[in-house]
Amino acid sequence: MKPAPFAYARATTVDEAVALLDKPDARLLAGGQSLIATLNMRLSAPALLIDINGIGGLDGIALKDGALEIGALTRHAAAEHSEETAQHAPLIALAMPHIAHPAIRNRGTIGGSIAFADPAAELPACLLALGGEVDIAGPNGKRTVKADDFFKGLFETALGPQDILVAVRVPAAGKDTRVGFAELARRHGDYAIVGLAASAKADGNGLKDVRLAFFGVGATPVRAKKAEVALAGGDIEAAVTALDLDPPDDVQASGAVKKHLAGVLLRRVARQLMETRA
Ligand SMILES: Cc1cc2nc3c(=O)[nH]c(=O)nc-3n(C[C@H](O)[C@H](O)[C@H](O)COP(=O)(O)OP(=O)(O)OC[C@H]3O[C@@H](n4cnc5c(N)ncnc54)[C@H](O)[C@@H]3O)c2cc1C
Repeated sequence: MKPAPFAYARATTVDEAVALLDKPDARLLAGGQSLIATLNMRLSAPALLIDINGIGGLDGIALKDGALEIGALTRHAAAEHSEETAQHAPLIALAMPHIAHPAIRNRGTIGGSIAFADPAAELPACLLALGGEVDIAGPNGKRTVKADDFFKGLFETALGPQDILVAVRVPAAGKDTRVGFAELARRHGDYAIVGLAASAKADGNGLKDVRLAFFGVGATPVRAKKAEVALAGGDIEAAVTALDLDPPDDVQASGAVKKHLAGVLLRRVARQLMETRA
């Protein structure tokens, strides 16, 4: 199948893209790795595609005021191979190789993944696990939204119809930062059946500030807050028992299977969080 006809505009500034989004049925085009597939299958048929790839200054990875900032147009591959990511956001570095395949990571963007907010995607869960935030530009100027408030529902975020995600920011890892990541997928590179991105801080022989963000278990990435408390107490089996998830059935697995797999992943990731203690 071919896409339905659409008009095309290439924005060169964020303001221009925001203004173009005022037109009816307009959609941003970043890496195109999700959008073009939906156009080709006619799952969506926007009247206007606004290509943001020509906007300068929307890519790049930099340490700023104790946080790692990643521009929206930064390609997955650039983040995957970045020294800054490895050093300051090791959870994102762990997750990157699980996203699709190199050809897709060469084009797909960090901003596109977060804005698209697929519930089985790795990066939204990483952003949530790290307690990160998102910079948004819209018709009323710029604003910042915490990851905890950004993911609203199935493919639904805090982005309004005329908003552009311009950057994401995560606290830079310190000496006491601990991270863990695991997912189960049918084949490497597929969207996860269930996945878990986690961060914590070492606290003596234990952990504190544990954040467990599961993906593939609901409409958004989901924090398991009771399990976080239990894991901070140091007892992995208590954390598995406390796992406060209620995944719905989907095309990949039943909710019961997903809940079981979430427990399997929690044991693996908890060990990663603990093994990497100083
Ligand atoms: C075969 C295949 C396998 C894949 N497997 C995985 C996987 O395992 N894990 C995973 O996470 N992803 C996977 N993906 C998706 C891939 O990571 C996409 O690149 C990503 O989801 C979207 O990024 P993009 O830059 O390509 O966005 P696009 O496809 O260009 O856009 C996606 C949506 O986000 C909107 N958008 C894009 N950028 C912005 C912005 N800056 N501000 C506001 N809205 C914006 C667009 O309007 C559109 O609605 C896969 C894709 C393919 C084709």
